[in-house]
Amino acid sequence: MNIHEYQAKQLFKSHGVPVPGGGAATTEREARALVNEHGPDVVIKAQVHAGGRGKGRIVKRDRTSRMYNDLRRDPERYEGQISGRRRGGVRLASGVEEALKEFRPLMDKDSRLVSVQTGPDGAPISAALIEQQTSIAKEFYFSIQVDGANGQPLIVASAEGGQSIEEVNRTNPRAVLRVPVDPVEGFPSFRGRSLASRLGLPSSAIRPAGEMFANLYRVFIDMDASLVEVNPFVLTSEGTVVAIDGKVGLDDNASYRHGGYEEWRDRSQENPTEIEAEEANIGSYIKLDGDIGCVVNGAGLAMATMDTLKLHGGEPANFLDIGTVNRKDRVIEALRIIVNDPDVKTIFINIFGGLARVDIVAEGVVDAVKELNIQQPLVVRLNGSNVEEGRRVLHDSGIAVQTADELGDAAELAVNAAASGKRRPRSTG
Ligand code: GDP
Ligand code: MN
Repeated sequence: MNIHEYQAKQLFKSHGVPVPGGGAATTEREARALVNEHGPDVVIKAQVHAGGRGKGRIVKRDRTSRMYNDLRRDPERYEGQISGRRRGGVRLASGVEEALKEFRPLMDKDSRLVSVQTGPDGAPISAALIEQQTSIAKEFYFSIQVDGANGQPLIVASAEGGQSIEEVNRTNPRAVLRVPVDPVEGFPSFRGRSLASRLGLPSSAIRPAGEMFANLYRVFIDMDASLVEVNPFVLTSEGTVVAIDGKVGLDDNASYRHGGYEEWRDRSQENPTEIEAEEANIGSYIKLDGDIGCVVNGAGLAMATMDTLKLHGGEPANFLDIGTVNRKDRVIEALRIIVNDPDVKTIFINIFGGLARVDIVAEGVVDAVKELNIQQPLVVRLNGSNVEEGRRVLHDSGIAVQTADELGDAAELAVNAAASGKRRPRSTG
């Protein structure tokens, strides 16, 4: 799960990582107080769970997808600016009045931040971070994540900071340093100092940078983070270092060790359907871009199902794993979530009963079709425990359903149903 920049900076601060003075505001009163305390020259930053904010744009809710396309088509012309006419998600201001002029549009209920990372819907803005301005001599990149291939944390750093690290890696791979970390040894500050000198920091900044890197590593370990990224940290004109951006991803698998990460979580930045699935105790639900809603049991089967749909030219609308269910109501809950997604044109249910009993799933499907008045074409493939009984339940129910015994055949039915749903408006219209 992701957290906001202002929260990442609270973690940085409590671990001794230098950050600019400031804090988050949602009301004019709070904004005014922060400018009085840390100004007059401040930077004002939209708080959303997405990056690229500086070059993103603040727009009204009904203009997000147009702006998203413009930003991708012609960045030169549309990219947000830190000062000037084209309002981005990161803005400089001087004094309370100017700061409030930048602050107000961020907190407008109808405003969204659109960046190349938010997608066409943009992101609602949860707060504004208001900080003292930093006078920047040079921008650097630093991150820590788990390198799955080596099973170790990996530090990535570059003297080409402030921009997309993927782009730097493409155009100038030698400018990207990779430092694997032995988790038993950790990352003490003497190793940080050697990284600092490899980055070409001046002698005045080697010691503070070395400590900053070691402290960022402590944030990573203490929080069970999956990512700590500072893009950029900067060398200031006074010759020291400051983290002026911060992105922290927390590992959901460790949330039980941190009270569910509740204090860090912002549900307004999450997909509402994913929250609904979580509250209904559905094992895992992930929203995708296609139009075939999938209900399966088991993550492996979910992936095989999506691969098979793709192989037949289809696009899944989601990944929904109901796990081992032996209760009809869980099946109905899962289908309620699928049906409420307006992108779903066809429903594909693929269940392999091991411990789960296929006949109970079938009863759940039949009840759901009646109770939820499901209109979309329904394709069901059942196999495993009590499969004969399950197929009989479906057959005897009288609901409109297509079935197949093999996954490939069933996927083809689902893809065809979705495709004819798409064609229909044209041929009859
Ligand atoms: P992002 O666009 O979402 O990654 O937001 P950042 O916090 O990284 O800000 C984007 C860019 O704004 C940075 O790379 C800096 O160039 C610039 N910026 C941010 N804060 C300051 C500041 O205090 N002073 C100046 N001069 N520039 C800043
Ligand atoms: Mn940044």
